[in-house]
Amino acid sequence: MSGRPPLSMQRRHWRLTATALAGLAACALAACGTPTAATDSPVRLVDVVPKGATIVHPAPPAPQTSSCTTSLAPPTTMPSPGHMPAGSYMAQIQTRGYLRVGVDQNTYLWGYRDPVSGQLDGFDIAMLRQVSQAIFGSPDRIDPVIVRNADRLRAVTSGDVDILAETMTVNCDREKSVDFSSVYFEAGQRILVPDNSSITGPEDLGGKRVCAPAASTSLQNLVKPGMPRHIQIWAVNNETDCLVMLQQHQVDAISTDDGILFGLAAQDPTTEIVGPTFSSEPYGMAISKKHPDFTSFVNGVLAQVSVDGTWTQIYDQYLLPHIPGPAPAPPTVSYG
Ligand code: GLU
Repeated sequence: MSGRPPLSMQRRHWRLTATALAGLAACALAACGTPTAATDSPVRLVDVVPKGATIVHPAPPAPQTSSCTTSLAPPTTMPSPGHMPAGSYMAQIQTRGYLRVGVDQNTYLWGYRDPVSGQLDGFDIAMLRQVSQAIFGSPDRIDPVIVRNADRLRAVTSGDVDILAETMTVNCDREKSVDFSSVYFEAGQRILVPDNSSITGPEDLGGKRVCAPAASTSLQNLVKPGMPRHIQIWAVNNETDCLVMLQQHQVDAISTDDGILFGLAAQDPTTEIVGPTFSSEPYGMAISKKHPDFTSFVNGVLAQVSVDGTWTQIYDQYLLPHIPGPAPAPPTVSYG
């Protein structure tokens, strides 16, 4: 950079000069020798991390012999909207008049608040609206509850939400507490760095500061066998907090699901996604084990949206503009 400093700096310089002159004038009048807080205190660099950000030492993921992605088969005949079978959990939801859904509000492209409308939007929310459509004949009968990663399982087991769709990886550990729908998206973990970074893949993360969402499989994957040692791992409550830490140079990289990283990259054009995918993160909707009829019904909804082109429309709306390449086929599902 050469020439005149930007206007904002010129203004700041003027303000500092004016403050210093004011201090001198005051000293001349009052013969002061001790620095006053207003004039001479050094400007401190503020290094504030997002609330709740902490260095963590996660345990590696438990070795899995199966991915636990097999879910319950859909009903042979799906009930028509507004006519849920008597005695079913769907009938309870229909009588209540709305579907309680667990969602995120800061994961751009997936579950986020549209800054203009203030409405919740994203791929996960669009999928939940399909469930509402199937129960009520309207996609709008959803009552969103914002759930932090760390509370996802509890929100479902406690009955606070009927269903949760929050970029949540299906795995055997989580399946001990909740049932999952069939897989509705296939993600995988990658790395996001500033454009000029020397990090080009997971092998370069040794000794680096890396941010990932709290209570996520992303944290565990950073310490799984084969990963470099001595990664300083930061866990944050909100996915976007990782972007703030990257922008403030408090971490060198962010590592989580590629779909989430594409959302962060869309929010900061000076970042890029690097290296290969180094985990498999199949997304499922979490539902209480008390309501297998509802899990089966949701699987019927997901099967329907996969075959009738709705899944692809939703992908095209939220993800296609930000993820290179054509829309993939909807995930292959397995029932058992
Ligand atoms: N898919 C990962 C998980 O379920 C990360 C999700 C997230 O941070 O939102 O743990």
